[in-house]
Amino acid sequence: MTATPRSYLEPLNLRGRISAPQPKGLPLVNLGFNELPYGPSPKVAAAIAQATAQVASYGTPLCDGLRDRLAQANGLDADRIICGNGSEELLDVIARNFVRPGDEVLISAYGYIQFQMVAARQGATLVKAPETDFTTNVDALLGAVTAQTRLVFLANPNNPTGTVLPLSELARLVEGMPPHVVVVLDLAYGEFTGLDHCADVHALADNRKNVIVTRTFSKAYGLAGLRCGWAHAPLAMMPSLYAARGMGSVNRLAQAAATAALADMEVVKARVAEIVSERDRVAAALAGIGIAALPSGTNFLLVRVDGRGAEAAEALVVHFFEDAGIIVSRTREAGLEDWLRFSLGTPDQNDLLLRSAQSFMGRLG
Ligand SMILES: *Cc1c(COP(=O)(O)O)cnc(C)c1O
Repeated sequence: MTATPRSYLEPLNLRGRISAPQPKGLPLVNLGFNELPYGPSPKVAAAIAQATAQVASYGTPLCDGLRDRLAQANGLDADRIICGNGSEELLDVIARNFVRPGDEVLISAYGYIQFQMVAARQGATLVKAPETDFTTNVDALLGAVTAQTRLVFLANPNNPTGTVLPLSELARLVEGMPPHVVVVLDLAYGEFTGLDHCADVHALADNRKNVIVTRTFSKAYGLAGLRCGWAHAPLAMMPSLYAARGMGSVNRLAQAAATAALADMEVVKARVAEIVSERDRVAAALAGIGIAALPSGTNFLLVRVDGRGAEAAEALVVHFFEDAGIIVSRTREAGLEDWLRFSLGTPDQNDLLLRSAQSFMGRLG
C-alpha cells in the first residue's frame, strides 16, 4: 500500500467544486477559477497563430523579447525580470531558493492557497498571522517573524478574500521586515486595483535586497491557459532563481501571446474597466437582496448570505449550479466556511447570476 502525502492534497480539498452533470442540460458558466470571460484579442490571437507555425523550435529560454517589453511597460530593468510557467512556478522557484525543511514560511490567515502548497512541498512550517476584518494585518505579520522565518508571501489584493492593503501598509511591512526574510508581494490581481497600484508596488521593491514582486498574464490579460507569469526581483537573486527554474518553462506560444498582449494595452484596460464596473454593480445588487460581499480589488467577489451560516453558503453554491449552470468556488478554510467566491463574467453572465441569486433568496424567505 502506498501512502498518499496528505499535506499535498489537503489544500486542494478546501475548494469544493461541483462536477455532476447539469440537471437542466444548461451550458456551464465557470466562475470558479477567477478567469477572464473574454477570448484573446484579435492581435493576441494573430500572434498565437503566427507562433504556431514555429513550434518545431524552442522559445527563447530567457524570454528576451518578453522581458524587454515588460521592462518597458513597467519602467523596470529587464535584467531583474524572470518569467515562469505561470507565476505559480515562480512561487515554487522562490521557495526552493530560500526555504529548507523546518524553516518557517509566513502568510496571512486567509492567504492564497498556493502559498500553503509551496511551503508544504519544501517541508516548511507554515505560520499564519491573524487578520482584521478579512484583511491582512501588518503588525500581526511583523509580530510573527522569528529567526526561522525565511519567506513571507502576501497577495495584494488577496485571493480568496479580494481585500487590499494600501501602499502605506505594504511599505510598513517591507520596512519592518528583518533582512533575513524575503518578502514576496503577489500582484496577480493588481491590474484590477489599478495599474498605478502595480507601479507603486514595483517602486517599493526596486531598491530593496529582500523584496520580490510577482505578476501574471492569467488574470487581467486573460491568458490563464498559456501559463505565463513573471517576477521583479533583486539582481543578486537572479542567477539562483534561473538555476531553480526549468530552461524552457515558458513556451513559445505563451511568450508570443504575452508579448502581443503588452502591445495591446488598450484592450486590456477596457476589459479590466468593464470587470471593475461589473464588480461594483453586482456587489450593490447582491447587497440589496441580502448577500454581502467583502470589498474587492480583484475580478471576483467573496460573498455570504446575511445572517446565515455555512449551510446557506453550501445551498447557494448548489442552487447556482442546478438553477443556472453557474460554477462558483466554495471556500472551506477555517474561518471562511460561510463564504463563497465567484469571478465576474460578462454582463450577461452576471445578470444570470443575479437572477439566480434572487430566486434563491426568494425561496429562503
Ligand atoms: C491566480 C493567482 C495567481 C496566478 O497563478 P498563475 O500560475 O500565474 O496562473 C497567483 N497568485 C494568486 C493570488 C492568484 O490568485
